[in-house]
Amino acid sequence: MSGLMETEVLIVGAGPVGLTVAVELARRGVPCRVVEEAPAPRESTRGCTVYQRTLEVFEAMGLPVDDYVAEGARMARRVYHLFGERIGTVDMAEPRSAHPYPLVVGQNVTERYLERRLADLGVLVQRGTSAGAVTQENDGVTVVLHHEGGRRSIIRAAWLVAAQGAASGVRDSLGIAWREWRRFTGLRMLQIDARVRLPFGLEPDEAHLFFGAGGHVGCVPLPDGRHRVFVVRQSLEDAGERGDPRPAEIAAAMEGLCGVGEVGLTEGRFAWRVRLQNRFAERMRAGRVLLAGDSARVFAPVHAQGMNTGVQDAFNLGWKLAAVAGEGAPETLLDSYEAERRPVAEELLARTERSLDFGVQESPDRDALLGAIAVNRPKRTQLAIDYPDSPLTRDLLGDDAGPRAGRRAPGRWDGRWTLLVLPGPRPDRRGIGRLMTGLDPRVDVIVDVDGEASSALNAAPDAPAFHLIRPDGHIGLRGGLEHAAQVAAYLDTVLGPVPPRNRSTA
Ligand SMILES: Cc1cc2nc3c(=O)[nH]c(=O)nc-3n(C[C@H](O)[C@H](O)[C@H](O)COP(=O)(O)OP(=O)(O)OC[C@H]3O[C@@H](n4cnc5c(N)ncnc54)[C@H](O)[C@@H]3O)c2cc1C
Repeated sequence: MSGLMETEVLIVGAGPVGLTVAVELARRGVPCRVVEEAPAPRESTRGCTVYQRTLEVFEAMGLPVDDYVAEGARMARRVYHLFGERIGTVDMAEPRSAHPYPLVVGQNVTERYLERRLADLGVLVQRGTSAGAVTQENDGVTVVLHHEGGRRSIIRAAWLVAAQGAASGVRDSLGIAWREWRRFTGLRMLQIDARVRLPFGLEPDEAHLFFGAGGHVGCVPLPDGRHRVFVVRQSLEDAGERGDPRPAEIAAAMEGLCGVGEVGLTEGRFAWRVRLQNRFAERMRAGRVLLAGDSARVFAPVHAQGMNTGVQDAFNLGWKLAAVAGEGAPETLLDSYEAERRPVAEELLARTERSLDFGVQESPDRDALLGAIAVNRPKRTQLAIDYPDSPLTRDLLGDDAGPRAGRRAPGRWDGRWTLLVLPGPRPDRRGIGRLMTGLDPRVDVIVDVDGEASSALNAAPDAPAFHLIRPDGHIGLRGGLEHAAQVAAYLDTVLGPVPPRNRSTA
């Protein structure tokens, strides 16, 4: 066993979630280390659909999103078929986002971009290093690390983030229960990346979903001309297959469900027999340990939201942990992480369950299917996720003249707190001046003189209003000029007093 190492935050796991937390800490100057048991980056494409909100998040984190988008395929439309008949086409564009379309790109590519961004910030993933036993003390955690070749060392950190995927040893060693939301007995899901041959041509930006008796099939276009194909179906008897599924097995399972004639799959690259599990950890924080991504909850991948939601868990946690670990903010800020992200996970667990049940009916109904598609469409983008009941949410206006506190504020934010002032039709210069006098130096100010932000927010206040936007782009506090004193009070509660370092540079 070698000597003791120290860091502020230890992150276990360099999947998309661990890497996102690390970038969020590193870009705020908080010392962190990332350990990853795999000796080399993963090749697999598994989480391949990246939705609009995740693209916004990657841009806010400083990833070169244009380059990233250029490596993927745009999903412009989803075409739905029922018993072989085309019943509807859904446009995937979301005009109110800077990234209107979902991107289809291998998870390996996403992880490469995240890891590069982290390296640019000076943090290298420590590969071939597995986190073992964890002990918590009042002021930190002690973790045994197992290195390739059998060497062991001990690391002490003020905080630990477990982003180890569903089989989280840290979660289990702390005794946090890993509860089953629902067991999907008798259902099977197969996935493969392959070239697809159907009796009709497939457009490169079009996904197809086929519903048949007892199951459904999806074909999502990948950037290399292959498709991500998934098949979910009732299979009460375990056919006894083991190992990765072969293209012929998946093509046979597809044929009956698509109902369009012969199906061919060639040049299969990655293939999975997906374990359908909906599970959640009973807590997302235990003292100085925080769980994120699949370590905190795992979804059967029917909505392609596991990675997307995990990245957003990490984005939510990152600025809070940076404030607590790096700026002395009160630890209660970390409790808002679970308060905000658990309802998101629960809604998705319930929606996944409904969709799975719906998608394997013996005789799916056309109107019900079209209704379910319409309900799910806006939810997929994750742009509408809000935190109305969060302890960080305070709306002092309570009207609908603009987005309420808790909502995402459309726009490009730089990861700092921003006081966005909307002057409205009768700008009160003095009042606005008073609002900005002596403002907390941790906050940037934007006065929306040209009305651009008001229109992005779809806001039309009668009188000057402000939105205090959090580092993750959600509105923390909303008020009018008469609430000027509340800005300082709010920040004091959420972040604590201004640290001396910030005070002197103000
Ligand atoms: C077939 C398939 C298709 C999917 N499609 C989509 C999709 O289209 N969109 C979507 O959003 N999601 C999708 N998902 C889900 C998505 O892949 C996961 O939700 C995502 O990978 C979770 O990220 P994570 O960082 O939490 O965990 P992981 O990606 O599992 O990463 C955890 C990391 O921790 C490491 N680790 C584990 N234990 C230790 C330890 N003790 N010490 C050090 N390191 C450790 C692991 O090696 C791993 O690298 C899909 C999943 C599958 C299986």
